[in-house]
Amino acid sequence: MRIAILSRNPRLYSTRRLQEAGIARGHEVDVIDTMHCYMDITSSNPSVRYKGKRLPRYDAVIPRIGASVSFYGTSVVRQFEMMGTYSINESVAISRSRDKLRSLQLLSRKGIGMPRTGFAHHPDKIDDLIKNVGGAPVVIKLLEGTQGIGVVLAETQKAAESIIEAFMGLNASILVQEYIKEAGGSDIRCFVVGDKVVAAMKRQAAPGEFRSNLHRGGSASLTRLSPAERKCAIDAARTMGLNCCGVDILRAVNGPVVMEVNSSPGLEGIESATSKDVAGIVIEFIEKNAAAHKTKTRGK
Ligand code: ADP
Ligand code: GLU
Repeated sequence: MRIAILSRNPRLYSTRRLQEAGIARGHEVDVIDTMHCYMDITSSNPSVRYKGKRLPRYDAVIPRIGASVSFYGTSVVRQFEMMGTYSINESVAISRSRDKLRSLQLLSRKGIGMPRTGFAHHPDKIDDLIKNVGGAPVVIKLLEGTQGIGVVLAETQKAAESIIEAFMGLNASILVQEYIKEAGGSDIRCFVVGDKVVAAMKRQAAPGEFRSNLHRGGSASLTRLSPAERKCAIDAARTMGLNCCGVDILRAVNGPVVMEVNSSPGLEGIESATSKDVAGIVIEFIEKNAAAHKTKTRGK
């Protein structure tokens, strides 16, 4: 097969591993810089141009679209879909997952467990917003944050009120969430491919920190998932319409709760924590599922 990895940087661990795994399984794999693609969207014969040439026909693309380039990146993926190229994650599903609020609304509609969450831009009654999710301590999140930046734990009602006021002053939309204390500063990253959790790791926050992001100094270790956790991760991936994603869950007293679903999950942490060939599993999934014109959301 001919596969394109849409990535801004061929040297990134995840990009390299996917390319290596594809080549090892006998495919031709190109890394294409998403942001350097351009296209004639009015053509009846859609194509993607790159470095002065029309790109060849690929059987499949693997989008690795960074959060900061979601808008342009998903348009490029959509153009490939219009050409009949199979994308492991569809453009619509990637856009959906980039909007935390929209994602949580869809997950809640399907009855998937999540922390009690409020959403606001300019509430008149901040105390009511906090009370609604069970009162302090609460976690306050900037809607646009990634890698744990813009995620704050407010231990008291007063602290929560001042943080919300500060964010309001910045004209930002925020999520206010019940603090899952019993998670003890750890979360579980479930790497889902198709309808299976193919690898999972527990991330533990650094001492004195409640955010377990590896970018915030968290450390990863192996963990065994309970059947409920497995099901929760798979249901979340299916609800988002993502074939390949990272589902982050917290172990709450009443069972697993989903925090977010990431459509370009990193491979480095999970492959080193689990010693699994996750990249190979992704390529294998494409081999089994990539058929031309299989994309469901083509804007018909
Ligand atoms: P980001 O998308 O920036 O990674 P997250 O929403 O995943 O932000 O939050 C970062 C980290 O903070 C999580 O990995 C988790 O360890 C911790 N965290 C987030 N929300 C909660 C919560 N409601 N209760 C307890 N810990 C949380
Ligand atoms: N079903 C809609 C679509 O595929 C999107 C629903 C949503 O993500 O909000 O375009």
